[in-house]
Amino acid sequence: MKSLVLEKKDEINLRDFPAIDRVEETLGPRDVRIKLHTVGICGSDVHYYTHGRIGPFVVNEPMILGHEASGTVIEVGAEVQTLKTGDRVCMEPGIPDPNSRATQLGMYNIDPAVRFWATPPVHGILRPTCVHPEAFTFLLPDNVSFAEAAMVEPLAVGVHAATKARVKPGDNAVVMGAGPIGLVTALAALAAGCARVYVTDLSEKKLEIAGSLSAAITPVNVKSESVVDVVKRDTDGWGVDLVFEATGSPHAAKTVFEPLCPGGCVVMIGGQPDPIQYDAGAAMVREARVENIFRYAHVFPRCVGMLSSGAIDVKPLITRTFEFSDSVNAFEIAASAPPADVKMQIVLPQ
Ligand code: ZN
Repeated sequence: MKSLVLEKKDEINLRDFPAIDRVEETLGPRDVRIKLHTVGICGSDVHYYTHGRIGPFVVNEPMILGHEASGTVIEVGAEVQTLKTGDRVCMEPGIPDPNSRATQLGMYNIDPAVRFWATPPVHGILRPTCVHPEAFTFLLPDNVSFAEAAMVEPLAVGVHAATKARVKPGDNAVVMGAGPIGLVTALAALAAGCARVYVTDLSEKKLEIAGSLSAAITPVNVKSESVVDVVKRDTDGWGVDLVFEATGSPHAAKTVFEPLCPGGCVVMIGGQPDPIQYDAGAAMVREARVENIFRYAHVFPRCVGMLSSGAIDVKPLITRTFEFSDSVNAFEIAASAPPADVKMQIVLPQ
């Protein structure tokens, strides 16, 4: 039973990992056992590989990577009601403490005790099987593929961001960054009712993909164009209603209010390993609302519903697929940040 193990910073191996069999593979009455099918490579997985840590989360012991997953139920616990063997599913990777104050208040994503796959010391799911609570495992309609289902996790971030932004029909938005999270945010903002979404990046290839997603997306290469100029030109100088920051770049964070209209909202999404600064004066004169998001809560069924209905199509975001046996190579490629790739996925042997 091979797993993809991050031994320490800069070292990944595909190898047997016996500890996981004993500790984390016991099926409780309300758990299901899942055979993994497709796992997306996330920026966070790559960051642990290249840096050995994200903020306070440090890889001190070998850890299995991966948290964006779909698979098939192969065993159900005695009290499981909604799932059965053979069901195709996707999984929400964070399991909160059901009795915590944050969970009781409906904010289980910010429960300090949440156990989230591939966040030290919790193992991820680049392994043949896993055990997961029924409550965080979601049935897939027949028309949602395993590849699309493994995109539900990043899509959930975009949907949570659009929800926090309180998008209204006809809003205009800027999404800073055309990586996977920027693009799922653009798709979620459109699904929530935006009339136009300007997506910025430095990579022409990523912007090409952005532009191909919808006629309502305007790609803006900030290497050659100012997004503020483009927005002001299109909105009679007023600005956009919403700005989503999805680059994680301190430089971009400094400029978030520039394209924003008076009374607009900025949503900070991009992971910020270091403290960032933004212009509070620019926020003040606009009476801007600022939202910060951390992962998501209560959105997986909505994401599955939108993939099934066609309201959102994530397929163009999946730019490369690797066999599990090739996953060390996949991570090396992902770590080189190829400009033409958005989401890379790994398919496990079935
Ligand atoms: Zn992710």
